[in-house]
Amino acid sequence: MTIGNALRQRQKPFLSFEFFPPSDPAHLPAFYATVDRLRAVNPLFASVTYGAGGKKQQNTLNVTTELVRRGYQVMAHLTCVGASPERITAFLDDLRAGGVTDVLALRGDPPAGDPNWDWNAGHFRHALDLVRFIRQQAPDMGVAVAGYPCPHPESPTFADDRHHLAAKIAAGADFVVTQLFFDVREYVDLVRGLRAQGFTTPVIPGILPIQSFESLRRVLSLCGANIPGKLYLQLEEADRQGGAEAVREAGLRFAVRQIRRLLDEGAPGIHLYTLNKADLCLRLRQETGL
Ligand code: FAD
Repeated sequence: MTIGNALRQRQKPFLSFEFFPPSDPAHLPAFYATVDRLRAVNPLFASVTYGAGGKKQQNTLNVTTELVRRGYQVMAHLTCVGASPERITAFLDDLRAGGVTDVLALRGDPPAGDPNWDWNAGHFRHALDLVRFIRQQAPDMGVAVAGYPCPHPESPTFADDRHHLAAKIAAGADFVVTQLFFDVREYVDLVRGLRAQGFTTPVIPGILPIQSFESLRRVLSLCGANIPGKLYLQLEEADRQGGAEAVREAGLRFAVRQIRRLLDEGAPGIHLYTLNKADLCLRLRQETGL
């Protein structure tokens, strides 16, 4: 059964987890220990990221296959930037052989440091092209797409970005996983816009608990999410009072409130960006009752 089908049957809110494949094999035992601890809380599925530009795709394949073996339902991320149809087809075949049921169809970003990347040279231009391709080549597989509560940084307007998300859904995506965000109203607005167009597709919010100022800065510079002023002031105050530990605690408290509000607004479940760490995810689960 694909994750989309599992979502349709699901009555209660759920947790799902995003992992990234460790690049150093020496880190694999600790990684799989984390994976097993989180498996014990019965998540709906786990997703595994794909190296930028398709680099290290063997790592994604190895980790997805091992997660299936360890009892997870698994969605593999897959980017199409610079990829050939043959390479995508071979990867889908390998995923299927490893028991992976679903793919998060992404465009990806051009290689870092290549300002002259020619978007029109390759077979795939947008994630939409990959959704269509997978629907044709692998109709048995589930397909999810990325959505942006705060629009994608390249989008000239909100409306543009929402229009392109709608096109990915219309092309056959089963569900949406969002980019991380901190303002619940942005998620509510995104979902309302889709519902107003008649799409009932589940939209799973992606949540990243803030762990430090340093990680917050890195994340904001990479994905362009907005941070509410009130949250920023709370983190500053926590830093003044208790340093790094207090910032982490304030980040966790904020994530708990954010998750409760999202569930209250009808989110079907929560996709946690685990950063391959179990403790924080387990505390969030305990405090939100998910
Ligand atoms: P698209 O949907 O193609 O959108 C990209 C931009 O083009 C947007 O501005 C959109 O509005 C615009 N656009 C879309 N369609 C059209 C069209 N037909 N005409 C004109 N403009 C259009 N990256 C990785 O490398 N590996 C990962 O594992 C990974 N996982 C991710 C997981 C999630 C949940 C999210 C939200 C992002 C992830 N990313 C990952 C990052 C992602 O690859 C980048 O955000 C990338 O810049 C856009 O990918 P996309 O699939 O959203 O692209």
